[in-house]
Amino acid sequence: MRLPYFYYREPITIEEAFSIMEEHHGGARVLAGGTDLIPLMKYGLETPSIIVSLRNLTDFKGIEAGDKEVFVGAMTSLADLSSSSVIRSNFPALHEAVGSVGAPPLRNVATVGGNIRQNSRCLYYNQSKTWRLEKPPCRKAGGDVCHAVPKGKKCFSVYCGDLAPALIALGGSVVVKAKNRERIIPLWDIFTGDGLTPFALAGDELIAGVTLPIPGKESGSSYVKMRVRPAVDYPLVSAAASVALDGEGRITKTDLVLGAAGPKPVVVEAGQFLAGKTIDTVSFDALNELLHKGTQMANNLVLSGSYRRKMLPVVAGKAIRAAIRSITGKENA
Ligand SMILES: Cc1cc2nc3c(=O)[nH]c(=O)nc-3n(C[C@H](O)[C@H](O)[C@H](O)COP(=O)(O)OP(=O)(O)OC[C@H]3O[C@@H](n4cnc5c(N)ncnc54)[C@H](O)[C@@H]3O)c2cc1C
Ligand code: SF4
Repeated sequence: MRLPYFYYREPITIEEAFSIMEEHHGGARVLAGGTDLIPLMKYGLETPSIIVSLRNLTDFKGIEAGDKEVFVGAMTSLADLSSSSVIRSNFPALHEAVGSVGAPPLRNVATVGGNIRQNSRCLYYNQSKTWRLEKPPCRKAGGDVCHAVPKGKKCFSVYCGDLAPALIALGGSVVVKAKNRERIIPLWDIFTGDGLTPFALAGDELIAGVTLPIPGKESGSSYVKMRVRPAVDYPLVSAAASVALDGEGRITKTDLVLGAAGPKPVVVEAGQFLAGKTIDTVSFDALNELLHKGTQMANNLVLSGSYRRKMLPVVAGKAIRAAIRSITGKENA
């Protein structure tokens, strides 16, 4: 499959990148590792006339650990994130999430910013032009039907990024920069929940990186991902959990976020429900109802929506137990 023609610029400073973006009135697309954008362009699903590569922007690269928080630059490769001892020791959920993205060659070029900002996916959309010609174009492809949810009025394509659920569960904020402004917002706030335009980012804005508060000693976290082939696949459902315990092993705080459960990560309000429970007394069947709130499990990934829905308590339960184990080291949890 061939790439369409496009102009290509490779700025060496962030100021130059913003100037080029300004010249093109928000119509330029930025390229990080290209592992999401380039396949979409080959399928004719993205057709930018100009690509601005971020590869030289050293300001956006690297992991900086302060006393209270860690900053991860958007252009940090997933391989570097995965091998960071700061990340492994402080943020097990993020370490596990990044290690589960695709396969090692992909992680060598794929970046943190690109992973967060990857487009949502659907079985009926992420296909070659020839395959898509078999059906009328769906909403995301510019038409007015949805093949996954025929009576649906919006696009239910699924946000399949592995990092975002973990980053959100860990209290991550995203640093968003434009030419003359910067904002730091909870990562969850950049998601719209609409598969057509999944991100609340303006055309002139870039993700500069993510900040994570360093958790206390009594906190732990974990990321659990369900997929068909363990070596390479996107999540079909995933859960990131971050918990804190008191001295007697009772849960005092829970942050639970589901991935691949709709067009944006889903934050589960499980804190009150799990408060005071221990690893031996927590029941995930009872959590079931809470887990379904806010999820949109359409039949648009390789496993059916109903099966993926049934797996929610399984992945969430595993993530919470593993998060507790990461604090206590309890073997039989
Ligand atoms: C075979 C295969 C398997 C994959 N498996 C997984 C998987 O298991 N889990 C998973 O999460 N992903 C998976 N991916 C998707 C993709 O590889 C990753 O999400 C990757 O991290 C994307 O990063 P990138 O740097 O290559 O992004 P790019 O393709 O360069 O960019 C992706 C999007 O983000 C935008 N962007 C990039 N950087 C910035 C920035 N700093 N600010 C604003 N916008 C930006 C780009 O304009 C583009 O729209 C897979 C891809 C392939 C091809
Ligand atoms: S969910 Fe519907 S509108 Fe969205 S990409 Fe899939 S088929 Fe298209």
